[in-house]
Amino acid sequence: MEGSSGNGNGRGPAAAAVSTGITSAPGRERGILVVGGGMAGISAAIEAAEAGSDVYVVEQGPSLGGRVAQMHQYFPKLCPPYCGLEINFRRIRSDHRHFKVFTQATLENVSGVAGDYEVTIRLAPRYVISERCIACNRCAEVCPVERPNAFNYGLDTTKAAYLPNPMAFPMKYVIDGAACVGSACSACVEACPTDAIDLQMQPKSVTVKVGAIVLATGWKPYDANNLTILGYAEHRDVVSNVQFERLAAVDGPTCGRIVRPSDGREAKRVAFVQCAGSRDVNHLPYCSSICCLSSIKEATYVRSQYPDSEVFVFYIDIRAPGRNEDFYHRIRADEGVHFIKGKVAKVFADPAGSGDLIVEADEMLSGAKRQVPVDMVVLATGMQPSLAGAAPIPGLPVEFDEHGFALENRAAGIFVAGVAHRPSDVVTTVRDATGAALKAIHTTVQA
Ligand SMILES: Cc1cc2nc3c(=O)[nH]c(=O)nc-3n(C[C@H](O)[C@H](O)[C@H](O)COP(=O)(O)OP(=O)(O)OC[C@H]3O[C@@H](n4cnc5c(N)ncnc54)[C@H](O)[C@@H]3O)c2cc1C
Repeated sequence: MEGSSGNGNGRGPAAAAVSTGITSAPGRERGILVVGGGMAGISAAIEAAEAGSDVYVVEQGPSLGGRVAQMHQYFPKLCPPYCGLEINFRRIRSDHRHFKVFTQATLENVSGVAGDYEVTIRLAPRYVISERCIACNRCAEVCPVERPNAFNYGLDTTKAAYLPNPMAFPMKYVIDGAACVGSACSACVEACPTDAIDLQMQPKSVTVKVGAIVLATGWKPYDANNLTILGYAEHRDVVSNVQFERLAAVDGPTCGRIVRPSDGREAKRVAFVQCAGSRDVNHLPYCSSICCLSSIKEATYVRSQYPDSEVFVFYIDIRAPGRNEDFYHRIRADEGVHFIKGKVAKVFADPAGSGDLIVEADEMLSGAKRQVPVDMVVLATGMQPSLAGAAPIPGLPVEFDEHGFALENRAAGIFVAGVAHRPSDVVTTVRDATGAALKAIHTTVQA
């Protein structure tokens, strides 16, 4: 259970070993390691723990939830993602015996074979002693340092002493040591009413023995800076789909008001550019499978906030498989949402100086060139596996496809869940995670 997870509570020497807190019954089979604390990792971990396995979750960030925690709403039901996440967090809280969560943690080394792995986990210092932190915000109030807010995809800043997000699990502050480097400031230490801050905290490592590993390291958004013709690097009002989620979120940088980052003007005419870099050999050759649905969902954010708004979706073809097709048809029926079949050739500032952006596309059905003036452009960038281009984890017997998606290694007891494995929505991710958990349990029981 997080809170006693070791990386925010100790004061030992660098790379000291930390007790995991799980005490397995004698003769009990080995536990399961889950790498990644997003929807896939949480789901796999809960399924395995509730079936009786000891589970260790290794999450590189300061809190659980992954990218789903950064969404405003889920398609197709348009409910807030925290509904689902909170239920899972409650299940984790209620299963102290079988659960161990390490945040700000990464794998340092893996050795052994299926059924008998020894894994060393590196714990970065949180500089906050988790058990003592009461999330009172005093440290952030007095902190003089601002740093980019990764949770809001850089659309605003936080203090160097910050809560990872308003619904963070664990609800514990963290200090960005890199943002304070070279500073003699200790304002947060002095302000903390529970003596929870230790700026001398060092990295540590902990070793666990497990029988199987579930890799659930998820995805990162494709870098929109690579899409030069679409104007992301040039125009502040060209944003990516993940940034748009944060603009619409009540706990986001604009408190949910959909306004232009450049001048705060209400964004009532919004263009969505589909396949922004996807299905393109120069960028991501594959389809991320969720971008059409996520843009259709984001169109509803605009339409429900501004009844007099207009949305333009530029697409090659709409991919809304299975039950999601009903959702697509429902939004398509909205007169304020215009679907334009055509690949966007460029996005540029209105030469007349109106402040609008112009989206230019060749409309496939009529053959005409269309220029549509809008307030804001949203690029539907795809999902790239987190581990693509990352340094290999020493000793982890896993292979990747040409795009960086991890491949299951059943013989070695390594299973992959969620977008680490392939692009997928949350429902598919959870289903995948359940399967990975079952296979992992099977491996540990057989061993
Ligand atoms: C714009 C957009 C909108 C979307 N909207 C919806 C929607 O409305 N409905 C829907 O069903 N789906 C939606 N999706 C898809 C959804 O985001 C994914 O299905 C979901 O995030 C997959 O969860 P995951 O756990 O596999 O990955 P992630 O959410 O990426 O979680 C992975 C976790 O692993 C951690 N991690 C990564 N590398 C390491 C490492 N080396 N060591 C330790 N930890 C690591 C990360 O920090 C993260 O916490 C959307 C996607 C996009 C791009």
